[in-house]
Amino acid sequence: MLQQVNGHILGSDAQTEEPLKGELQEFLDGETLLHQLDDLTKVNPVTLETVLRCLQARYTIDTFYTNAGCTLVALNPFKPVPQLYSPELMREYHTAPQPQKLKPHVFTVGEQTYRNVKSLIEPVNQSIVVSGESGAGKTWTSRCLMKFYAVVASSPVSWESYKVAERIEQRILNSNPVMEAFGNACTLRNNNSSRFGKFIQLQLNRAQQMTGAAVQTYLLEKTRVACQASSERNFHIFYQICKGASADERLQWHLPEGATFSWLPNPERTLEEDCFDVTREAMLHLGISTLTQNNIFKVLAGLLHLGNMQFADSEDEGQPCQLMDYATCAVSTSASLLWLPEDTLLETLRIRTIRAGKRQQQVFQKPCSRAECDTRRDCLAKLIYARLFDWLVSVINSSICADPNSWTAFIGLLDVYGFESFPDNSLEQLCINYANEKLQQHFVAHYLRAQQEEYAVEGLEWSFVNYQDNQGCLDLIEGSPISICSLINEECRLNRPSSAAQLQTRIETALAGSPCLGQNKLSWEPSFIVVHYAGPVSYHTAGLVEKNKDPIPPELTTLLQQSQDPLLKVLFPTNPKEKSQEEPSVQSRAPMLTVVSKFKASLEQLLQVLHSTTPHYIRCIKPNSQGQAQTFVREEVLSQLEACGLVETIHISAAGFPIRVSHQNFVERYSLLRRLRPRASPGPHGPSPAKAHSEGRPHTEETTLQLRLQDILHTLPAVTWSAATP
Ligand code: ATP
Ligand code: MG
Repeated sequence: MLQQVNGHILGSDAQTEEPLKGELQEFLDGETLLHQLDDLTKVNPVTLETVLRCLQARYTIDTFYTNAGCTLVALNPFKPVPQLYSPELMREYHTAPQPQKLKPHVFTVGEQTYRNVKSLIEPVNQSIVVSGESGAGKTWTSRCLMKFYAVVASSPVSWESYKVAERIEQRILNSNPVMEAFGNACTLRNNNSSRFGKFIQLQLNRAQQMTGAAVQTYLLEKTRVACQASSERNFHIFYQICKGASADERLQWHLPEGATFSWLPNPERTLEEDCFDVTREAMLHLGISTLTQNNIFKVLAGLLHLGNMQFADSEDEGQPCQLMDYATCAVSTSASLLWLPEDTLLETLRIRTIRAGKRQQQVFQKPCSRAECDTRRDCLAKLIYARLFDWLVSVINSSICADPNSWTAFIGLLDVYGFESFPDNSLEQLCINYANEKLQQHFVAHYLRAQQEEYAVEGLEWSFVNYQDNQGCLDLIEGSPISICSLINEECRLNRPSSAAQLQTRIETALAGSPCLGQNKLSWEPSFIVVHYAGPVSYHTAGLVEKNKDPIPPELTTLLQQSQDPLLKVLFPTNPKEKSQEEPSVQSRAPMLTVVSKFKASLEQLLQVLHSTTPHYIRCIKPNSQGQAQTFVREEVLSQLEACGLVETIHISAAGFPIRVSHQNFVERYSLLRRLRPRASPGPHGPSPAKAHSEGRPHTEETTLQLRLQDILHTLPAVTWSAATP
């Protein structure tokens, strides 16, 4: 009987096209050519160290993709590798009888999902979860997959249908530069960092052609519009308009050459992403007319001028703050670009309206402090930008969406922010890490558990690997009735003055029983620790409740409803019904209380969609934080392997049976072995007949047989010959 031995490999990699010369010899000598291992489940033994060595060996020879059981590990080359993404290679993977036998590649996953949709009588939706830390290559990978589908899923049956097909695919691809211009920014970790999560559903008809797509976005980092960390930048689009506007447009948008804006830091850095023409061209393809585009850019220029409105401290507490001398013209320019009454704009930012009484009938006005004026100005910018982004997404959706009757299945691509842990973590990181916990659980549920259950059903013996179940952590974050989310939401609902220290105490007391909650004894600031599957993260409690409320003073919305600007009229209709008619409602905007509850709801919706699909996983890894080619920093890769739970995956895959052959096929292929009847095992640690052979010792009948067996068995990776073999 053939017995699989956990974590040990025997023979060469069956997935390499041609076994390399001397490989068997090297193996038998206890050496493995690590760079040739296309699947991390075949390293021997499976440890972090060996996995790391294998990835490093492959990276050194420019091999960037490696399988890890059901997961594809993608190392970021940080250099152009055009031959790796050529249309010829796409075709090769698309036409290969068994693409999984080719070198691991993102196209293998693309083709696999494409075939899965096709091969079944009842189409089954597929999803690809692309994860990894910032700069690891998620967006690149998703774009690459979209291009792959655009090539393979177009079918030029007739010229007419070809044109339609090309148009829809091209439009889908055009959504990328537009969404990246408005939603990506240069950060310390990535020059083109996505500041939102994205799930795109590529819709296919029965003939396997792409008929449309739908995009859903998550948690845009809207604070960036008014506040950028040092050495970081605002969203690309602001730099694009400032660099790419024509002389005429500069006049219209009040953007003279060399103008400085406080919300436009580091303008001297020119990035590839600063290409205004590409964005405009793509917008045009998506049906956004030049007129509408100009309107959008005018509003954005208005925001830049808004950012230059700097307030001075009020000399008299009862009086509104004055503007800094140099900022006075910013008000008039901003007001004219946003088509707002200048005095109303200024007063709304400087004076707060307070309603009191039973039916809020009493109205008071109170001058704001300088800090409050700044907050209101920033809030106004964030409000406009977030609505604009959502509106853009819905316009894109209406341009690329297919008739619901025209498609039968979809392939979903999820490009979300990876696990984050900074010295200072707040609500944003809590949401991001919460999403990652959910995705990890999804991964565990769909792959690891399924694999275990399958073995149990087949009655197969295998060594149990303790993988980390993250339910405890999820209970802590989102559980019912009490969790971190519920406590923060409760604080928002009660609207009581509450200090950061009080919130910390409340969390610690109410959730004391959770093994995933810890105390940060080293922190001066009130905080709590959540032990995530990827490691412990300390969150500061200061500002959590306020961020969760994300309050928008009603006066700001009222102000924007007074705008005569056509775009702002759409974004801020006086009659909400008007708005829903203007905007295709692909993005759900159900009114919800807090940031956390909105995020939780959208996450649940996403998970529901993912559960209805066959999932595939791509883990992107950043070989170094400097973005340099040919540089593999082991410590950095190691922490990412831990963060994405890859080690557990490899263990489970290696502990399991990586090759599944039907009984019938197995008998046909290996029945001749029945005649050989060896008496002892050559096993990985046993005597090596090949070694005896190489040392010139005479062959016994047994070693000859064993050599022949080795020859045959080396096509069967991860399978060894047990001593109990008949
Ligand atoms: P974030 O979470 O910040 O959005 P990300 O994981 O989406 O990060 P990308 O923007 O996809 O990261 O990749 C960062 C950069 O790495 C790209 O701009 C590109 O320069 C480079 N890169 C990524 N993948 C590849 C690749 N396969 N080939 C060449 N360059 C790549
Ligand atoms: Mg990205």
